[in-house]
Amino acid sequence: MKTFFSTLIMSLMAVSILSAQVMEKQARKFAKTITDDDLTRHLSILASDSLEGRETGKKGQKMAAEYIKNHFESLGLKAPVDGSYFQKFNLYQTYRGNSELVVDGKTIKNLDQMVYWANVPFEKDEIEIVYVNKATEEDLKDVNAKGKFLAFKADGQFTPILKTIEEMGAEGALVFAEDSSRMNMVLRYGRYYATHGSLSRNKPAKEGLASVVLYKELAEDFFGKPLAELKTGDTASAELFAEINTKIMETENVLGYLEGTEKKDELIVITAHYDHVGIQDGKVYNGADDDGSGTTAVLEIAEAFVKAKEKGHGPKRSILFMPVTGEEKGLLGSAHYAENPVFPLENTVANLNIDMIGRVDSAHMDDREFVYLIGSDRISTELHEISEAMNENYTKLELDYTYNAEDHPDRIYYRSDHWNFAKNGVPIIFYFNGTHPDYHQHTDTVDKIEFDLLKKRTDLVFYTAWEIANREDRLIIDEVEESDED
Ligand SMILES: [Zn+2]
Repeated sequence: MKTFFSTLIMSLMAVSILSAQVMEKQARKFAKTITDDDLTRHLSILASDSLEGRETGKKGQKMAAEYIKNHFESLGLKAPVDGSYFQKFNLYQTYRGNSELVVDGKTIKNLDQMVYWANVPFEKDEIEIVYVNKATEEDLKDVNAKGKFLAFKADGQFTPILKTIEEMGAEGALVFAEDSSRMNMVLRYGRYYATHGSLSRNKPAKEGLASVVLYKELAEDFFGKPLAELKTGDTASAELFAEINTKIMETENVLGYLEGTEKKDELIVITAHYDHVGIQDGKVYNGADDDGSGTTAVLEIAEAFVKAKEKGHGPKRSILFMPVTGEEKGLLGSAHYAENPVFPLENTVANLNIDMIGRVDSAHMDDREFVYLIGSDRISTELHEISEAMNENYTKLELDYTYNAEDHPDRIYYRSDHWNFAKNGVPIIFYFNGTHPDYHQHTDTVDKIEFDLLKKRTDLVFYTAWEIANREDRLIIDEVEESDED
């Protein structure tokens, strides 16, 4: 015989199973509003030549922002930034303009045989240069670097050494690139920054280490003998002149807000970066996959949730749809939001971030129905389990966690906008299709997007958001020790 309580529990369970079934049916219904046609329509505009590669602060980025805003407005999403859809902020654009080194009457021009590798201006008729054979902390400990330029050779990464040298009180550094292909790469970067400037959220410092990277053959001009014959303590002198120009530019994140029906103070943020790298050498870098695909997905997910709400099935928790700016310049838009959140980060339940979901990488040519997930288990195991369950139930993609490995050399976990949420303790999932030969090339165009896959992956984000937004309890955050990553 059943007790009263077990009958009650059984009927409560029946109610919750029933409501889960209703929710599932509704989720499937509104996922259908995400269509290949809509995705194609939005992405064909965002990744068109007329948007000029959507470079942060430029005309194309503004046009993309306007397009996204109009979409949010037409859906009836709220404009949450004091009545605006734009969260505007300033960036400093620094150009390493005219720079030159003069040694023994010979002028070495910036971007020709050298690259001035600092954002600090410099002007001095005589710099004292000391050669150090191995620029390691160990070898540098007996060198008096104060007020001097330290010269050293490098065959790879040299920026950590620059930091050490600066801490020793040196005024500057001359880096002789041992590997000429490395030097050519530095020159390419230098030329890129000369025309595009480098962007930062903080005003660049007036003082700091003045550093120059040069072809190794130039060592002889300074020291009178080739690089291979130089010994620690050899000295030289030269003149260095470096001009730095800074401009202020304005850019904006675009925010569309859908208020929750029951737990409206709790928020899910869905992000993708809508900026890309602009025009280079006269070619438009359309950024169809990077990250037109993610931006388009956000537009469609927003529409699906709005339609659900119109039919009386709005999410219990609120959702912020936020295509961000400045990602390609160093995750600047999401960093700005994380420091100036429009809704408190403590109430932010999760961030689902999408950056490139319209293509297939070389590792999945034979099993194209996949997506890389990164970060889902790092902060909330429950989020990871929900994500897996949603995929199992609805989308059945292969979820590839290769890039989620803690020791993966590509460090993808730190390389897109979710990181600015994760570092503040907000559970995140990052959706990514891996790189391909068109990555950051002018050939990342809309004709190469696989829209059936874009639809499937967008669905996965939608279903996951749907579940997080509608479940009874907020996601549980795992207990963790302090991380020393920054
Ligand atoms: Zn990207």
